[in-house]
Amino acid sequence: MRVVRYEIIAIAFASAFVTSCGSRVIVPTRTGPVATTTTYALESVGETMGLQRDPAISALLADIDPAHIGHTDSTLVSFGTRNTLSDTLSSTHGIGAARRWIHSQFEQDSRDCGGCLRVSYYGEVQKMGRAQDHEANVVDVLAWLPGRDTTHVVVITGHYDSCICSLGGTYDSVSTAPGADDDGSGTSAIMELARVFAKHYPHGLQSSVIFAAVAAEEQGLYGSKELAQHLHDAGYTVIAGMTDDIVGNVTTENGTTDSTSMRIYAADPDNSPSRELGRYAWALDELYLPAFTVLPVWRLDRIGRGGDHEPYVELGDAGLRFTERLENYNRQHLPTDDLAHVNFGYIANVARVNAITVASLASAPPAPAEARAFRQSRAMDANGKPTASASGGQAWTLSWQPSPGATNYELLIRQTTSPTWEQIIPLGNVTTCSLHRQLDDEWAGVRAVGPSGARSIVSSIPGPPRPRPARPAASAAGAAASGAAPAERPSRPFGGQQRQPPPPNCGA
Ligand SMILES: [Zn+2]
Repeated sequence: MRVVRYEIIAIAFASAFVTSCGSRVIVPTRTGPVATTTTYALESVGETMGLQRDPAISALLADIDPAHIGHTDSTLVSFGTRNTLSDTLSSTHGIGAARRWIHSQFEQDSRDCGGCLRVSYYGEVQKMGRAQDHEANVVDVLAWLPGRDTTHVVVITGHYDSCICSLGGTYDSVSTAPGADDDGSGTSAIMELARVFAKHYPHGLQSSVIFAAVAAEEQGLYGSKELAQHLHDAGYTVIAGMTDDIVGNVTTENGTTDSTSMRIYAADPDNSPSRELGRYAWALDELYLPAFTVLPVWRLDRIGRGGDHEPYVELGDAGLRFTERLENYNRQHLPTDDLAHVNFGYIANVARVNAITVASLASAPPAPAEARAFRQSRAMDANGKPTASASGGQAWTLSWQPSPGATNYELLIRQTTSPTWEQIIPLGNVTTCSLHRQLDDEWAGVRAVGPSGARSIVSSIPGPPRPRPARPAASAAGAAASGAAPAERPSRPFGGQQRQPPPPNCGA
């Protein structure tokens, strides 16, 4: 179960009061000590964060098949090695045979749904290694399920390359490298997703979904980097870039077993789209799969390790890593990463968590862009006249861009120390409102709701810093050489809302 339960000793809570938005606040306030022990669960908006179950998604979950996943993984292992530098010409051995087989499976899925998938290769020859002395054709295999809005894409990847990197074999093109867990498991999961999504959504969802088997993860995320950059360069809006990596082991080196929970890694900062995606997947798991626990980890990845979600995070997209709860280093990057130690029922459960996340994201409008808060310098009446008291940081104008396909919006509130959202305020179909709260001490956020009730991830207010494009070296040097004063930006007057009537209250 979720880890948001706190043991509070000798503290009582007054649990509710009413805001000017007319909504009940459920964050407890401390009123004084009493001699009792209280267990307080973040009752909040519920552990499901106000998300609603979609019967079509529930039906899809039942079709995810551990036996089919096992067959996929065993076929991947049968290619001997899938090292990125291995044979590309053989039809039975090496990474070339592996990718052609993956492509053929995607094609079969597409035939089964009347041609609903667009199956393609994407890649280029890349140099790799510290001395750039290795070269390989880094080829990703893609199955696109086009949405009604083809400009927005949800991406989920598994890396189909393998290695015996722990034996110094990062570039070993010939030795056996089964990679049954790393990452035959993740590749099998995303291939299973392509199969069941094609079957259940032959006409697609609101946004497009890309199921991608990517290469050269083990040498430095090359396949994922090229795909993420290509999607940005081609003008797609990436709603999420997620990866399944190492999702099939349930037993540690010392025999500890856990087959009932998994981890998701969601990068800093706390108001980033990745963190919001983590909260979303966590809540969806509670909604659809409460017996299979998602353990959220609020960092980019495991300490000192990485994965194929990182290129998306670096580009400012929402990124997420799905991975097993317990790793076994005796069976990673070694010839012992074999099928006998992979649990296909467990992979199926990970794939179900993937499925609810992908289908929910692709069913919903995109998260509102440019969500912002502006401090109202003084509280004002309905005619725009300042009232007698200054706002003191308790009056804000919130605004965001309309989200394509949204029929209404919801405002969410949480304490800065809360792992997830605690309050929801329905807003109607508006893109600005006045919030009367001490927002300096909280996070707000807005999400878009579609006609079916599908909800986007939350756009945090204020949002995280935008990723900065690399500064051209020439212009930086030129400015330094000229000694010119830096360009000044006009300063924004404090409380710029003062002369205009404030928008209606949020939730009024
Ligand atoms: Zn891996």
